Amino acid sequence: MPSEFELIRQYFTRPTNHTSLGVGDDAALIQPASGHELAISADMLVAGTHFLADTDPYQLGWKSLAVNISDMAAMGAEPRWATLALAIPEANEHWVAAFANGFFACAERFQVDLIGGDTTRGPLCISVQIMGQVPIGKAIRRDGAKAGDDVWVSGQLGNAALALNHLLGEYSLADHELKQALPALLKPQPRVELGLALRGTAHSAIDISDGLLADLGHILEQSNVGAEINLAQVPCSGIVQQHLDQVSVQNMLLAGGDDYELCFTAPVNEHDQIQKMARGLGLQLSRIGSITGQAGLIVRHRGNIMNIGKTGFDHFNR
Ligand code: ADP
Ligand code: MG
Repeated sequence: MPSEFELIRQYFTRPTNHTSLGVGDDAALIQPASGHELAISADMLVAGTHFLADTDPYQLGWKSLAVNISDMAAMGAEPRWATLALAIPEANEHWVAAFANGFFACAERFQVDLIGGDTTRGPLCISVQIMGQVPIGKAIRRDGAKAGDDVWVSGQLGNAALALNHLLGEYSLADHELKQALPALLKPQPRVELGLALRGTAHSAIDISDGLLADLGHILEQSNVGAEINLAQVPCSGIVQQHLDQVSVQNMLLAGGDDYELCFTAPVNEHDQIQKMARGLGLQLSRIGSITGQAGLIVRHRGNIMNIGKTGFDHFNR
């Protein structure tokens, strides 16, 4: 069995691009570009809670970094550095090698340096801290939404929840449907380029990790506003569309989570600019409703107001 230090040296030490001192010392040394502030966030993935214990390690490596990078995207920050605290039940080299490959595939795609971490024995748990930079004062926060803003969503929602429900045996998809839905669950694509493009245009933004309604709800609460959205305008794949007459699938779309798309608000007069942005990025951007002055979130479905009970995933209230 390799020692802790051999594992770190062999699997978690790779050349860095914008780091003064990376893995190997007691601390890493980094320096954001001048005129920038650091954006810092952490996300933990626990076996059995955030992923099924038999999840492919390569995909888990990708996802554990991707969900962190998604938080940088939501701030309009450029992801730069990450640390990785890893608890593994045993030093299984096949597992660690595949995990590291997935992690670094994501790191390379988004130009993130792995600069340190911790490796211990324990129940499988992956804790990543991400750091990025954003010009001072330019971060896109949750508290900037204004009454009258359009509410927008990137990409398509619901596929990850649909795939997860299938894997858990709670919903049944045909093989070709599962194949189409699975990538959203296993290999989320953080919307970094969109987040950067939205600086100066969006009033507020959040990434959708716990479900559209819950995450939009955070914007509403922190901005002291409400919103009215339309189910028919919430972007989703053909498979979600096909099953959308079922309440369970409506729930997956609105409250399923694990989407890692961005939900943002912007003034109405930015509409054309945002559509241009969508074409430039090759990314679907959909206007799903408006911010209102009155608190509360209203979802319309065929003219009626939907009764929204469960608005998203909350670890302590299930
Ligand atoms: P210390 O005992 O000083 O905390 P460690 O022995 O835990 O140091 O780690 C040695 C070096 O390896 C440190 O630079 C640490 O940041 C890095 N490191 C440990 N585990 C990981 C990991 N999973 N990924 C990246 N770097 C790691
Ligand atoms: Mg240590």
